[in-house]
Amino acid sequence: MSALLSIRSVSKAFAVGSNTVRALDTVSFEVAKGECLAIVGESGSGKSTIANVILGIYGATSGEMIFDGEPLDQTRTKRHRRRIQLVQQNPLSSLNPRRSIGASLRLALDVHDIGDRKARDAETGRLLEEVGLPADFRTRAPAALSGGQRQRVAIARALACQSELVVLDEPTSALDVLVQARVLRLLQDLKEKRNLTYIFITHDLSVVRNIADRVAVFERGKLVELGTTTDLFTTPKHDYTRRLIGAVPVVSREEAALRDRLMENDHADA
Ligand code: ADP
Ligand code: MG
Repeated sequence: MSALLSIRSVSKAFAVGSNTVRALDTVSFEVAKGECLAIVGESGSGKSTIANVILGIYGATSGEMIFDGEPLDQTRTKRHRRRIQLVQQNPLSSLNPRRSIGASLRLALDVHDIGDRKARDAETGRLLEEVGLPADFRTRAPAALSGGQRQRVAIARALACQSELVVLDEPTSALDVLVQARVLRLLQDLKEKRNLTYIFITHDLSVVRNIADRVAVFERGKLVELGTTTDLFTTPKHDYTRRLIGAVPVVSREEAALRDRLMENDHADA
C-alpha cells in the first residue's frame, strides 16, 4: 500500500507567556491509503495538536507533510480541504446551533460543488440515512438530537464532500459505552464502503483494538512506539505503552492473562 499521508519530522511549539510548550517534537509517520491508524496517548500528549496540524488549523513550527504526493501546507487548496476532513469529540462545537441539520449538510455540498444543485437536498437525506438516521432529521436543530445522533451528523458532514482522509479526534469519547460501540461500528462500515483512510485519535486503548490496523503511541509530544495493533497489544516495546495497556479495562480471561503477563514483565524489567 502506498502512503496517502507522510508526516516528516513535524514539530509544533506554543508560546505560553515566557514559556514554550513543545506540543509535537519531531514526529514522523505515514498513513497508507485505506488504513486506520490510531493515535493514542494520555491527555496533553499532542494528539489534538497533530490533528490540527494535519487539518491546517495550526501551522507546524518545522517539518513537512506530503498528501498523495503533494506538499500539504497550512494554506490549503480547496481540493485539500475537501479531501481531508475532521470529526471532533464534541459535535456541538462543530455544528452551527442555528442551522438545521439539513442546512449544515447542504452547506458542505454547496461549498465543495458536490453533485447537481437541485439534487443536493435529496443528497442530505441520503447522507443521513447512510449514517443511520431518518432522512426527515434534516429539519431538526442540533440541540434536538442526542449526543450519538449529533456525532452521526458530524460524520455525515465530514463525508458529504467525498473526503478521503478522515481525522477523528476522540469521536466517541463523550458518548455512553453502548452508543460508543454503535458509532464505532458505523465508522467501520463507512470506511469499508467508501474506501476511507482514518486517523483515529483516542486516549482509550480499548477503543482502537477493533478498528485500528496500526497504532502510534504519543507521549509528551513524541511518537514513542508505532506498530500493528496485534503487535502492540501482545508485545508492547515501550514501557509507557505497557502502562497504557495495563490501564485498559479487561473484558475476557485471555486479556486478563495477557495483562498479568505484561505486568510481570514490567516488574521483571524494573
Ligand atoms: P491531547 O489532545 O493529547 O490531550 P493536545 O495536543 O491538546 O493534547 O496538547 C498538547 C500540549 O500542547 C499540551 O501541553 C497543551 O497544553 C498544549 N497546547 C495545545 N494547544 C495549545 C494552544 N493553542 N496554546 C498553547 N498550548 C497548547
Ligand atoms: Mg485532545
